[in-house]
Amino acid sequence: MKMEFDIDLILAILAKEVAGYQVPVVDLIAVQSGDPYQVLVATILSARTKDETTAGAAARLFKKAPDLRSLAALSEEELGRLIYPVGFYRSKAGYLARLPAAINAMGGVIPAEVDLLLKLPGVGRKTANLVVSVAFQKPAICVDTHVHRIMNIWGYVQTSTPLETEMALRQKLPERHWRTVNSILVAFGQGTCRPTFPHCDRCVILQYCPQIGVTPRRAPGDRRTSPMEKTLKLLCWNVNGLRALEKKGFAGLVGELDPDILAIQETKLQEDQLSDDLKNIAGYRSFWHCAQRKGYAGVAVYSRMAPLSVRYGMNDHAFDSEGRVLTLEFADFFLINCYFPNAGEGLKRLDFKLAFNRALLEFAQGLAAQKSVVLCGDYNVAHREIDLKNPKSNQQNAGFTPEERSWMDAFLAAGFVDTFRMFNNEPGHYTWWSYRFNARAKDIGWRIDYFCVDEKSRQRVQGAAILKEVMGSDHCPVQLDFK
Ligand code: SF4
Repeated sequence: MKMEFDIDLILAILAKEVAGYQVPVVDLIAVQSGDPYQVLVATILSARTKDETTAGAAARLFKKAPDLRSLAALSEEELGRLIYPVGFYRSKAGYLARLPAAINAMGGVIPAEVDLLLKLPGVGRKTANLVVSVAFQKPAICVDTHVHRIMNIWGYVQTSTPLETEMALRQKLPERHWRTVNSILVAFGQGTCRPTFPHCDRCVILQYCPQIGVTPRRAPGDRRTSPMEKTLKLLCWNVNGLRALEKKGFAGLVGELDPDILAIQETKLQEDQLSDDLKNIAGYRSFWHCAQRKGYAGVAVYSRMAPLSVRYGMNDHAFDSEGRVLTLEFADFFLINCYFPNAGEGLKRLDFKLAFNRALLEFAQGLAAQKSVVLCGDYNVAHREIDLKNPKSNQQNAGFTPEERSWMDAFLAAGFVDTFRMFNNEPGHYTWWSYRFNARAKDIGWRIDYFCVDEKSRQRVQGAAILKEVMGSDHCPVQLDFK
């Protein structure tokens, strides 16, 4: 039985727990420098970037530009070189280049108020709150992905965006915790309550935590060591350019996610462009089906188990030249990894897409007659209104046209099962967000990535999930536990 959730007690336990963890980089810089300029710049650098990378980039930058005046002397190009490889380094170099003028326009002093900080280039709510709290020691709640996620796991708030969480915490969280909650939960979120498969098996607050929406990791030694344990963890992810993702640590992420099979789409590379690191991730064999056209489409599968056979495409040159279908045959199932065509702007490719879809359904039915079929991929269609945030305004747009949705109806009527909907029939679960309009932060998304299985295999499905915390692409991975 879970014990009563007392936020004072929980944060006290965690403060003690994370004292031995690595200190988040921005807090470290604040302690070392005590300088609002360095805290502000380090916070801008840290967005969507690992702490080790931020620390290296900040050290290089502060050597050349220890203050605002010296920052103003650096060109945008030089800034880009100094801060590479932080995430979105080109945009961040632009923000840093414009920062001195923007601060000078405010009197040459870094403001200590959230509203004023928000007027600076590259500064969002998270950055502004962090600077106010860490650099100026004023009460502010910095809600990043860890705070948002963990507060929802605890049921302390029920929100769908970091902004909603910040507003809810302002109402509910005692002010004495405002300044410290971020550094405690960032360290805890990186070390134990991780975005994917939190380490609940070693969590100091397990007896208090309701674990809302959580799939804990299997404890070490608890996986696939028993011959009875046969549930496979399958992941599917449109990576939207594997070489870009490689630079963000793809191989390490695969190790962390620990799938038995990982099917990826939109690799956007040719086989001769593959680095050894990408081809040979420890513990996996990899299989590639690339498009003839450079930098376009392409699918691949990483598998721990050796397949019995591999099929590249569907025996139709028009479709196969685009590198869209890769099928691995195992002893008791086929895995079809598919990147469905996009109907395109002005629906120019809708006919091509529908022809592809029909061929694919026939192909999958042929295999399902032999043994179980798992068909995963970016289907490039949101099936029902609950599968996207704004159904009304997208009726005629690629991915939500009546024709594409009808095909999905026909596909399910033909005996395939949308595994996510076996467990969840709620709206608000998305797998893709546009890069524009800050859509991911606002959770304006679409569910267009699926794991489907043939009807006969329904009972083999043990679980299905959307791993929305996994960053690196405009899609997030989806998961199927298959026995
Ligand atoms: S029990 Fe699991 S989900 Fe809950 S806080 Fe601990 S690690 Fe996170």
